[in-house]
Amino acid sequence: MKTRPGICQRKRRYATREEAEAVALHADVTLRAYKCALCKQFHLTSRTKGLRVPRPPLRPSS
Ligand SMILES: [Zn+2]
Repeated sequence: MKTRPGICQRKRRYATREEAEAVALHADVTLRAYKCALCKQFHLTSRTKGLRVPRPPLRPSS
């Protein structure tokens, strides 16, 4: 997924995916955390359609 520099600079950055998802839980809309290729941190996006976010199998039980 390509991230435009303008988007990156405007968006709130989170150091970890956990932090970003914690914020997303309290949002009024469905947000998704993704790692930014530019700043190597995490942003939240409300665009969930067609967004492929490969998750590492950290929790096999889920
Ligand atoms: Zn970024």
